[in-house]
Amino acid sequence: MSSTAGQVIRCRAAVAWEAGKPLVIEEVEVAPPQTNEVRVKILFTSLCHTDVYFWEAKGQNPLFPRIYGHEAGGIVESVGEGVTDLKPGDHVLPVFTGECKECAHCKSEESNMCDLLRINTDRGVMLNDGKSRFSINGRPIYHFVGTSTFSEYTVIHVGCLAKINPLAPLDKVCVLSCGISTGLGATLNVAKPAKGSTVAVFGLGAVGLAAAEGARIAGASRIIGVDLNSNRFKEAKKFGATEFVNPKDYNKPVQEVIAEMTNGGVDRSVECTGNIDAMISAFECVHDGWGVAVLVGVPHKDAVFKTHPMNLLNERTLKGTFFGNYKPRSDLPSVVEKYMSKELEVEKFITHTVPFSEINKAFEYMLRGEGLRCIIRMEE
Ligand code: NAD
Ligand code: ZN
Repeated sequence: MSSTAGQVIRCRAAVAWEAGKPLVIEEVEVAPPQTNEVRVKILFTSLCHTDVYFWEAKGQNPLFPRIYGHEAGGIVESVGEGVTDLKPGDHVLPVFTGECKECAHCKSEESNMCDLLRINTDRGVMLNDGKSRFSINGRPIYHFVGTSTFSEYTVIHVGCLAKINPLAPLDKVCVLSCGISTGLGATLNVAKPAKGSTVAVFGLGAVGLAAAEGARIAGASRIIGVDLNSNRFKEAKKFGATEFVNPKDYNKPVQEVIAEMTNGGVDRSVECTGNIDAMISAFECVHDGWGVAVLVGVPHKDAVFKTHPMNLLNERTLKGTFFGNYKPRSDLPSVVEKYMSKELEVEKFITHTVPFSEINKAFEYMLRGEGLRCIIRMEE
């Protein structure tokens, strides 16, 4: 038992007081974990687009003050009642979506969309009692997607924590708790390209590059990167991309360009843009008879996917995926093992590191579109 178990911990957290305003490092009080909850000491966290999107709060319900952060690695400090599969000292990756292991989704081999712990961006409190575990002078501070990792200590439902190999360096594998696993799993778990096949990846941000990395691991012989920003190709080569197509360079639909390059279409495509036209192109560029397209990007709320049904009748398959179809607790530890066995490279995703006191710099890098992942070190 740690000496802090059962007590309120005072520590530093980066609090977002208002939409779009720089975070402020504050001293917060973190209550002990309740039933099925775990208090985690965060060592490293990284910034993902989703944090920035909800911090800007342009489209959704603003919920402030709030502690953001969901890509991270940490160590269990103490556990609440009923927690049997984690103990103080265990190394964990928090995940924005959970696995209760009891609902129909968790029991299905095909789904990772847990009924109880599926991502909920509107909820700013814990499930157990509808309250926050964070406060400043008695004023509650809201949680974000059940993780709130921009704090030295945070309280998380046990179902949203993957227990990982304690030898895995948390400053590297923390990036596996969201975007990288999403892209990797989209290719490895859903598109499943055969060795020697041809794969197109639409959108070469962190998610798309992770999808390309998946294609490289699967042994694809051609990996065609598609992006409107030609600067992305240089980076993409490190992730296995062999060719590059910028749709702006052609005066015909990109699916036709790709079909010409590949003798009728690619074997697999993975869309990681969130743009509806790219989604349609990603589907229409797969080969008839066997091609499979996987959608990963989150589209605009009014977007409509339109294609001629003949494209499907001609034996093309369209799929979508959430978090790369990984079940957080059951599957994420094996993704960490892929890194440990050097099959998966994560260092190349990490382009910046800042101390916690400079967390706002990580936001600036992302807003300027600089780099891929910025690691935030909790210990200065
Ligand atoms: P990003 O913004 O870093 O990268 C997107 C890339 O797509 C950019 O390089 C951009 O130039 C390119 N792009 C945009 N429109 C395009 C078009 N029409 N054709 C070709 N390229 C185009 O984003 P990211 O962090 O890599 O995330 C990618 C997508 O994945 C986002 O939509 C994000 O919301 C989504 N996502 C989904 C899940 C899931 O579980 N399904 C999880 C995490 C992220
Ligand atoms: Zn469940």
